[in-house]
Amino acid sequence: MQHYSLTAPAKINLHLEIIGDRADGYHELVMILQGIGLEDRIDLYAGSTQAIHLHCEHPDVPLGPDNIAYKAAQLMCREYSQAYAQYGGLEITIDKKIPVAAGLAGGSTDAAAVLVGINLLWKLGLTQPELQTLASQLGSDIPFCLEGGTALALGRGEELSPLQGLDQATVILAKHRNLFVSTAWAYQSYRQRFGESYYQKPETIEVGKKQAHSADLVSAISQQDYLKIGQLLYNDLEKVVFPEYPKVEALKSAFQEEKEVLGAMMSGSGPTVFALCSATAKAQDIIENVRSKINDSTVEFWTTELTNRGIQVKS
Ligand code: ATP
Repeated sequence: MQHYSLTAPAKINLHLEIIGDRADGYHELVMILQGIGLEDRIDLYAGSTQAIHLHCEHPDVPLGPDNIAYKAAQLMCREYSQAYAQYGGLEITIDKKIPVAAGLAGGSTDAAAVLVGINLLWKLGLTQPELQTLASQLGSDIPFCLEGGTALALGRGEELSPLQGLDQATVILAKHRNLFVSTAWAYQSYRQRFGESYYQKPETIEVGKKQAHSADLVSAISQQDYLKIGQLLYNDLEKVVFPEYPKVEALKSAFQEEKEVLGAMMSGSGPTVFALCSATAKAQDIIENVRSKINDSTVEFWTTELTNRGIQVKS
């Protein structure tokens, strides 16, 4: 039976800045997105019945149309109904390694892998720009997940400009096991509290007609200056998530006190905190120090690295 196996990396936000409201209800964003080595594995088979079946053992991952990877498959079935009829249904298995609802784009990267896998399985021959068009119909982070690497992302996050790749740093992720932050809540709270000041921020970079202050970070990335990158990490959503969930802020502070940590920040709408460290840093020592400082057995840690890999086809 025809089969493709793909890997789908998570992302972190090196920069997340909210610069305005949009008519479509989303926010106008300036983000710098970065792929990391923590990956899900997606297996795709042509099914024997004319249906989509999704399998995943993780208890928090929905198996039906609420799953964004399932939605990606539905979109492909609608758009390429002839191929769907010719090849039959789809069996999709997600081996979940990326923490769920963690601000790491776990669902989005699975969806990107499904688009790439179906393109191969059904021999559609879609180009990367054609896949990008499909991806942007599904969700804001999915276009980036298709490409991976390091990118400036504008609009809802779908207007991508690749930046020079970063792959010389270790990343430690930490997350409270039973803590979930709703992305919709985080953005709505930000609008309520800070909406008035969207356009009154320090203006240091021209992004179309908008202004944002990620210019220094963009230049640190082009110089591959990891020390500066660590100092310039930025996330507007910390302003609403930290007051509501002080233990997320405490986790960030614990990382910042570590000598070998170049910078620490919440990723996306959280609650995952990441610490950027030099490639030679002793990650296990840092984790042990942070663990003993916060003294909370519900915090889980992962060690990974920055990566330029996007979705990869393994077999
Ligand atoms: P983002 O960073 O793109 O906002 P996230 O990393 O915060 O995403 P996900 O792991 O994608 O969050 O999960 C968000 C919600 O979506 C979860 O509550 C989960 O139930 C649901 N979900 C749908 N599809 C998936 C999927 N393939 N993997 C994980 N969660 C999924």
